[in-house]
Amino acid sequence: MIDPFGRTISYLRVSVTDRCDFRCTYCMAEDMAFLPKKDLLSLEELDRLCTVFIEKGVRRLRLTGGEPLVRKNIMHLVRQLSRHLDSGALEELTLTTNGSQLSRFAGELADCGVKRINVSLDTLDADKFHAITRWGHLGKVMAGIDAAQAAGLKVKLNAVALKDFNDAELPEMMRWAHGRGMDLTVIETMPMGEIDADRTDQYLPLSLLRASLARQFTLTDIPFKTGGPARYVNVAETGGKLGFITPMTHNFCESCNRVRLTCTGTLYMCLGQEDAADLRTPLRASEGNELVCDAIDEAIGRKPKGHDFIIDRRTSRPSVSRHMSVTGG
Ligand code: SAM
Ligand code: SF4
Repeated sequence: MIDPFGRTISYLRVSVTDRCDFRCTYCMAEDMAFLPKKDLLSLEELDRLCTVFIEKGVRRLRLTGGEPLVRKNIMHLVRQLSRHLDSGALEELTLTTNGSQLSRFAGELADCGVKRINVSLDTLDADKFHAITRWGHLGKVMAGIDAAQAAGLKVKLNAVALKDFNDAELPEMMRWAHGRGMDLTVIETMPMGEIDADRTDQYLPLSLLRASLARQFTLTDIPFKTGGPARYVNVAETGGKLGFITPMTHNFCESCNRVRLTCTGTLYMCLGQEDAADLRTPLRASEGNELVCDAIDEAIGRKPKGHDFIIDRRTSRPSVSRHMSVTGG
């Protein structure tokens, strides 16, 4: 699959549910309206769609959400998809999780051929953790991280950098993560979906964070890539890697290799644009995959050049109306 700008699409992110057991303040409103359950693709349909994408050249697949591990019977889908790892058609099957259910699922994930996972963690302070996630408990996530590492999964931590919330704590988080053999990636908050808070108050450009970290640590740019948009530095003092995902201050769309599927079978060709393609109708219209293949080709043919996120005081509305949990991070 090659888009109009010559980019090869080889990475699919699948939001298997838009629901979640947390309500992170930068991600969701406390009182969220979720996609109607009747519109959900079944796990079999998700497997069929993912398989079509793999046949069309997807080599890496990430399950996300909402919280992927709260989708009922999610391990059935992971197990099904793992056959593509066994056959060699898929290079990597992974997931992004808030970690709350990892104690229960880490062993089975490893058994299905998942090698590495991303766990989102914005603070190491239990009270602050509860405040930012509204419903989460740090102890459960820590136990989940322990279980993942014990199962042999490589864990990368993702933290959204939030002004006056975790900026001062990030050096300590980095030392802690690197001390446990986990890389850490920091992310700029993106204007997606209505939330209760003001994003202008939360937004921290990572250029500022990097400058402040560079006063305490020796940061060396490295060409390391995990297939995503993060740019990495080596941190001499800790021996670990720190990644920066900067959708706001540095647009990385020129190297975009991905598309995103929602749990209702809607394909978003860009995280930061409203345009989407309905794959559920062609999927259900016939038992063969010809119609859905045509719909995918047509969608890839209109993948936009990039996003145009803006966060400032004059722009009070989010750049895209849907929440991150619909298309997945
Ligand atoms: N629930 C899972 C989790 O938290 O890892 C997976 C889905 S979550 C939407 C994926 C990632 O998106 C998380 O790392 C989260 O911190 C990040 N995220 C959510 N809303 C965001 C926003 N508005 N801007 C930047 N990152 C956001
Ligand atoms: Fe849930 Fe992840 Fe969004 Fe937090 S960031 S509310 S854990 S989907």
